Amino acid sequence: MMNVFPRLLIKVKSIVENLNKLISMTSRYNIEMVGVTKVLCGDVRIVSELVKSGLKIIGDSRVKNVEKFKSAGINVEYMLIRIPMLSEIEKACLLCDYILVSEPKVVEEISKVCSETGKVQRLIYMVDMGDRREGVLFERAYEEILSVSKLKKVDIIGVGTNLGCFGGVVPDEENLGNLVKLAERLRRSGLNLKVVSGGMTSAIPLLENGRVPNGVNQYRIGEAIMLGTDATNSREMDYLNQDTFTLEAEIIEVKEKPPKPSGKIGRNVFGEVPKFENGRMRKRAILALGVQDVDIKGLIPLENGVEIVNATSDHTVVDITEAEREYKVGDILRFRLKYKALLRLMCSGDYIERVYLDS
Ligand SMILES: *Cc1c(COP(=O)(O)O)cnc(C)c1O
Repeated sequence: MMNVFPRLLIKVKSIVENLNKLISMTSRYNIEMVGVTKVLCGDVRIVSELVKSGLKIIGDSRVKNVEKFKSAGINVEYMLIRIPMLSEIEKACLLCDYILVSEPKVVEEISKVCSETGKVQRLIYMVDMGDRREGVLFERAYEEILSVSKLKKVDIIGVGTNLGCFGGVVPDEENLGNLVKLAERLRRSGLNLKVVSGGMTSAIPLLENGRVPNGVNQYRIGEAIMLGTDATNSREMDYLNQDTFTLEAEIIEVKEKPPKPSGKIGRNVFGEVPKFENGRMRKRAILALGVQDVDIKGLIPLENGVEIVNATSDHTVVDITEAEREYKVGDILRFRLKYKALLRLMCSGDYIERVYLDS
């Protein structure tokens, strides 16, 4: 194991166990699982293990990641889960088996591209059931989907929705039930819809207590596989592993400092006016890690008495006054991660060493 910091310890086995657990939970209801890998920023090593252990469809938001997985020889089906830019449609159609869409203009362009290549592109039309990110408003969905379904070389195989991610709306029997009803109405009008893609991590509670509306037959899951958590419902699943990713960062300074800066206060490097409490001297450590690498709000210290104060591009200041351990320069602090913190760390590229354990 290389002693290079900061580094991410990745327990591949824990991630694979999470996947297997979720596959067995969904298959009990004949629900197909799409494993969403966007947080991994194209990590071939982890994704190939997921596929080896039975994942059939990979969902990613970036065409570039799909391209990377494919050229690494990972042969599964791929779903592009972000609406494609007009500028990437050709590539998206070439590489992806399924594409999520929400704009007639995008479907028209896909239809044009495929008329030239001969491919029939399978699409899932996204419907906004209340979360207010992507998707045609539920009230307008029937007309819009019916009209794009007449375009050539595109096959609208289903409808889908995204909940929880943006507006924090919790998936339930009502909003997902309405999505199923929309699919049924479209079927009565002649569309051959096979898929109702209704689940994300935030919809796992419905699986747990058997309340997934009849007709929902696909879940696209990311966070629960990677972290064993559910941010929307703010919980950890006790049947999943949370020890999947651990961040280790090195201390480069330890000093006693007054918590309040002295001098006239302007704005900090990010244009904010920082607020500080007056008080007794604190013991502070600086980690060689910054906002360039991580979202510090998503760092969960693994040792007691460690509190994150703030960070700049390359420095993270932590308060260790209450810590049990006597920290010194060169020591390593360890953290568990929330989703956004993990995302940034994975995308910080060469600056973060990755150590794959037990794979
Ligand atoms: C991120 C994303 C998912 C997965 O959501 P999780 O909360 O990570 O399970 C599913 N669908 C779409 C469209 C997404 O963007």
